[in-house]
Amino acid sequence: LNGYVGFANLPKQWHRKSIRRGFSFNLMVVGAKGLGKSTLINALFNKQLYKVDSAPKFSYRDPNEPVPVTIETVSSEIEENNVKLNLTVIDCPGFGENIDNTEVSWKPIVDEIDRRFDEYLEEETKVNRSTVVDNRVHALLYFIEPTGHALKPLDIEFMKQVHDKVNLIPVIARSDTLTEKEVESSKQMILEDIKNQGIRLFTPPIYENDDDETVASTKGISEKIPFAVVGSTNYIQTSDGRTVRGRSYPWGIIEVDNEEHCDFVKLRQLLIRNFMEELKETTGNSLYERYRSEKLEKLGI
Ligand code: GDP
Ligand code: MG
Repeated sequence: LNGYVGFANLPKQWHRKSIRRGFSFNLMVVGAKGLGKSTLINALFNKQLYKVDSAPKFSYRDPNEPVPVTIETVSSEIEENNVKLNLTVIDCPGFGENIDNTEVSWKPIVDEIDRRFDEYLEEETKVNRSTVVDNRVHALLYFIEPTGHALKPLDIEFMKQVHDKVNLIPVIARSDTLTEKEVESSKQMILEDIKNQGIRLFTPPIYENDDDETVASTKGISEKIPFAVVGSTNYIQTSDGRTVRGRSYPWGIIEVDNEEHCDFVKLRQLLIRNFMEELKETTGNSLYERYRSEKLEKLGI
């Protein structure tokens, strides 16, 4: 049951369009190397989209040479209960490897988000609009280093650069390396930074006609932002005989799918099970619209 990803819920979320065309979702992941991005993606979609080195190799580089940030996409078709998901994950290797937070660190990523908007705008203005492919970024998972403290200048700068272009979802990476107390206090500090800096995050909406259970579930998700996540695709045996996805320590096992251990389940609810369609709609109706009208205004149209 752990392997059930949950996008089979999509037809329920996806009430407006035909199911036959399949469902596409474009997810961008940003964060420094080694924060567990690839592992988390594999765990979220229960598929090996990325190979993960168990012991990452060290490679020397000149610390004075800026590291270029590049864009790498992986696409995969995932099927569950006859529902097809065309998933594209956009990774940005090189991010966070420069000592400062100047433009070189984030510009290529902002450019990529804009480029995808521009491409859509161009397609949309063509005559045959029924064939418009939506390559826009529908959500951006931002991986915060588990320092136990607040945000770093690059975190703040990056989030400010993208928050009005994407549905921004921050996660505290590798949260198993922090104590429960550290997770709580760093969440508070991070949220305070986000508030003080005027950074807007994606928060799941509550609708007037939601029943009490749905309202409680949505609030339960919002409360956990920034999600403290743990990723693993390894199944291990617990002392009480269960088989779980997790990470093993001398003092015990951290379970990925256990809400007492981390916020992985809540993140998956937000991203996949309950609000994937919402993320796409917000991208199209609000974030893209804003970009589009600013662009047309600049062009004097
Ligand atoms: P990426 O560079 O951000 O894509 O990170 P990877 O997914 O390649 O993971 C880098 C290393 O961290 C690997 O050895 C993973 O096994 C390990 N790792 C991934 N997720 C976690 C986690 O949640 N906690 C811990 N402690 N290690 C993790
Ligand atoms: Mg990776």
